[in-house]
Amino acid sequence: MEDKSLAIYQSVQQQLDGICDSLGLDEGVKAYIRQPQREITVSIPVKMDDGTVKVFTGFRVQHNNARGPYKGGIRFYPTETINTVRSLATWMSLKCAVMDLPLGGGKGGIICDPKNMSMGELERLSRGYIRKIWKYIGPDQDIPAPDVYTNGQIMTWMMDEFNTIKGGDNPSVITGKPIGLGGSLGRGDATSRGGMYVVVEAAKKLGIELKGAKVVVQGFGNAGSYIAELMHDDQGSSIIAVSDSKGGIYDPAGLDPKAVAEFKKMTGSVVGYPGAKPITNEELLELECDILFPAALEGVITADNVVNVKTKLIGELANGPLSFEANESLYKRGIMVLPDVLCNAGGVTVSYFEYVQGLYHHWWSLEEVHEKLHAAMVKAFNGVYETSVAKKVSMRQAAYMVAVKRIADNMKLLGWV
Ligand code: NAD
Repeated sequence: MEDKSLAIYQSVQQQLDGICDSLGLDEGVKAYIRQPQREITVSIPVKMDDGTVKVFTGFRVQHNNARGPYKGGIRFYPTETINTVRSLATWMSLKCAVMDLPLGGGKGGIICDPKNMSMGELERLSRGYIRKIWKYIGPDQDIPAPDVYTNGQIMTWMMDEFNTIKGGDNPSVITGKPIGLGGSLGRGDATSRGGMYVVVEAAKKLGIELKGAKVVVQGFGNAGSYIAELMHDDQGSSIIAVSDSKGGIYDPAGLDPKAVAEFKKMTGSVVGYPGAKPITNEELLELECDILFPAALEGVITADNVVNVKTKLIGELANGPLSFEANESLYKRGIMVLPDVLCNAGGVTVSYFEYVQGLYHHWWSLEEVHEKLHAAMVKAFNGVYETSVAKKVSMRQAAYMVAVKRIADNMKLLGWV
């Protein structure tokens, strides 16, 4: 299979170079911010259930810690590459800075196929990874979290291994833990809830009435199903189409997201939901609607299909669903795109809340989590929106400008550049 990860990483670096130039930052800042501060590659031997030993490759990339300890998920993925991890670590630095969290950016990955591994093999792999990287992580250094194909159980094994080696009780070495083992209330729907909060602010600026607004969601997974439910239940919007990897469903009269979720739980897909018309993922992105949430994959709206997009507002819940060209073309057409580093940052924000609660060993109520998340998202939206208006740039360019300036200011104050 073709590996596009180097080209994506190079494009991330080019975008950063452009932002540094537009902010008038000097070459030293540009050179340091465009590459990770540390990259760790490890070999992890694991005794498999059949008695053989398999050696897995794991990565941890620490992009920038000028604003605080590195933070970012760990992916278990068959086609994981160091370049994907580098791109994701860079985006985490930007996301944490946009949200003004006192954290830097990091990311981890292990090349493996978790769907074909037993629980015992996954536990030995998780613990083996921590045995190789424990010196470089910790509440004051680098705080991992779940990501693609990792979960609360895997985070718990990793935390336990870290505590066993290091000694003591350090719940804040890792986030995304189960409730009762140091997890935070409100983490489940945090990404989508944060996305809804910024959509509410954007709708006020654009004059979109959310009650009855037509909403389309690509990817009815974790992020997509929660956003459909929240927009329907909390805002009174009409969810006219949703999809998953098998295809989409469309009902101009509006779908009931909870009923669709139940149907998907029983059948494995939204496709075939009674009363709705089948629609392809390509057609779904081109439906006339008020708000479109790409919540599945990267690169779904590009120069090839952007002219057919007929919405007023896009909320990027997925990471990187729009190409750079598509983003700029929509900006020229007056269609606002809430970029991933802002729109899906509710997840890392509640992860940060989990980290803080763990440091204090004191746990907040759900109301408190929602209140603090709301305040953080509104503040971040306003900062990006004001920059977008003042500098006459898209919300994505504005978000990157806000983030890079914050990171660069700290690097200068610290005397690094
Ligand atoms: P998920 O695996 O729960 O859901 C993904 C959904 O996308 C599934 O329903 C899947 O069927 C669907 N999908 C897969 N291929 C598709 C295709 N070709 N066309 C249409 N749908 C397709 O994952 P998730 O956690 O909801 O994450 C989705 C996106 O959101 C990813 O880009 C992820 O990085 C991003 N994100 C998620 C979180 C979070 O907290 N869950 C936080 C930040 C960013």
